[in-house]
Amino acid sequence: MGFLDLLFPPRCAGCRGYGVAWCTACGRSVEPIAPATLDTIPLIAGGRFDGALQRAVHTFKYGGRPGLARELSPVLIAAIEAAEIGFQAVAYVPLHPERRKARGFNQAERLAAQVARRTGRPLLDGLARVRATPAQVGLSQPERQANLARAFTWTGARPAPQGLALVDDVCTTGATLEAAAAAVRQAGGSIAAFLVLARAQTLPTVPVVTLPGQPACP
Ligand SMILES: [Zn+2]
Repeated sequence: MGFLDLLFPPRCAGCRGYGVAWCTACGRSVEPIAPATLDTIPLIAGGRFDGALQRAVHTFKYGGRPGLARELSPVLIAAIEAAEIGFQAVAYVPLHPERRKARGFNQAERLAAQVARRTGRPLLDGLARVRATPAQVGLSQPERQANLARAFTWTGARPAPQGLALVDDVCTTGATLEAAAAAVRQAGGSIAAFLVLARAQTLPTVPVVTLPGQPACP
C-alpha cells in the first residue's frame, strides 16, 4: 500500500467498502449474461447492467476513476474467452471530443485497451464522433437511431479493417453500437463482435437484440 493509499484508502466502486477498488464480493455478484446478437453480429457482455456492476460503471464513468478499467475488464475478458469469439483488432465507441475533454478520458477506450492487451490484438482509434448527440436516456429506439445517424465516421486508413471488435461500456438498446458499426462498414470494414462491459435488460421499443432462436432479449 502506497503513501496515497494510506491518506485516501481506495473504496470499492460497487459497495463503497474500504480497501480495494473492486472487491471480491462485488466481483462475484456480477451475473453472467448469455451471448446475444445485434444486427446479426455477436454481442458479448461481461454481465448484467444492474447491482454492483451498474454502480461500478457509474463510478468509472462519472467518478473520475479511469483506472477502474483494469479492475472491471476481467469479467468481459472471461465472457470473450467463454464465447470463443475471434477478432483481428480492437476499436471502441468514441466520445465527442468536447465530452472526452470534459471527462478527461473515454471509458470505452480504457476498456478496449485492456481487451487489446489481454487478447494480444492491436488497439485502433479510427472511429470518430463527428456530431455531438444529446443524451440518449428517455428516447425511444427510433428516436435514438435518428439521434445517432451520421454521428460516427471512420477516420483511419481505408478500407477500414476486417474483423474488428467494437468495445463500449454499456449496451442498452444497441443503437450506439449499430451506428458506430455502420460507419465502419461504410469505410469498407467489418465488425466481428460487439464487446460491452454490461448489457441492460430493458427491451427497446423495436427489439434489436436477439438471442439465438428468440425474437428479443429476455
Ligand atoms: Zn464491493
